[in-house]
Amino acid sequence: MLYGEMDDENENREMLEELNNKSNLRKKAIICGVIVLCCVVVMTISIIVSVRMKNNNSNEPKQVSSVTQDKKDQKKKKSATYEGEHMQIAEHDMNQIQLKFVPKENPNAQQQITDIYYSDEKVAYLTFDDGPSKNITPRVLDILKQENVPATFFVLGSRVELNPDLLRRTYEEGHYIANHGYSHEYSKIYTSKDTVFEEYVKTEQAIRVALGNPNYNTHLFRFPGGSSGGRYDSVKAEAKGLLRDYGINFTNWNCLTGDAEGRTNTDSLMECLIQTMEGDGAIIVLMHDASDKSYTADALPSVISYLREQGYSFKNFYEIFK
Ligand SMILES: [Zn+2]
Repeated sequence: MLYGEMDDENENREMLEELNNKSNLRKKAIICGVIVLCCVVVMTISIIVSVRMKNNNSNEPKQVSSVTQDKKDQKKKKSATYEGEHMQIAEHDMNQIQLKFVPKENPNAQQQITDIYYSDEKVAYLTFDDGPSKNITPRVLDILKQENVPATFFVLGSRVELNPDLLRRTYEEGHYIANHGYSHEYSKIYTSKDTVFEEYVKTEQAIRVALGNPNYNTHLFRFPGGSSGGRYDSVKAEAKGLLRDYGINFTNWNCLTGDAEGRTNTDSLMECLIQTMEGDGAIIVLMHDASDKSYTADALPSVISYLREQGYSFKNFYEIFK
């Protein structure tokens, strides 16, 4: 019996031990399973995160360029905005660059420009129309720099778009940037007073883009071929009124070298200058820096030295818009 009882007890202990071992094994298996599961989850999450980061990085340039494109589109839209029947001088959302000197609005400018013609002061305003051009404008700028002479450039919007770097150089070397319209095609610009104004605005926009400043304003226009006369005289007269409504001033010239009138060498250009100086007063001298005006650049040192000999000093239109 005792043996039998002892056997039973042993058997029970063995069974209990076996049960304990089995439950320990199960616990270990569960713990291992949980650990493996955790590892798998952590690895999966880290793989997903790294893949997403890679995608984000490769998308970055695309996002930036699409934002830039959006801004470009906005600019296009804004610069094509009309207010009423006239094109509005639009505000850009470009990154604004600090400019050293910006022409300032002057309510008396038109009168002061007219007064230049009647001034006895020996001051010469050298002006260059129809640029910037790749071959002539740099030559003109080099001479002006060498002679330390400030000048005024009446630029064409279409040429500014082709040569923004030259416009920037002209500006940075202290010359006055003024507006000469966009196309210089009389049949286009003088279709109506509105087309004159539209060409003015388009050129202002081109200048602003080239200089990288949305607030640049030339305040000054020169009509291609002059502000009156010829077959477009009545359109010019109406356009003058419209420009004045917008506070835009204009100037012609009272002296010229004849470089757009068939004179093609220094002697004949100097002859024209001397003939048209008309006495001793202030002069606004018409010249050109278009691509076919190499003789203008050739004659420029003689023009400057002659005027100096005659007692002239040189100014540009910052004198009026300061
Ligand atoms: Zn011109």
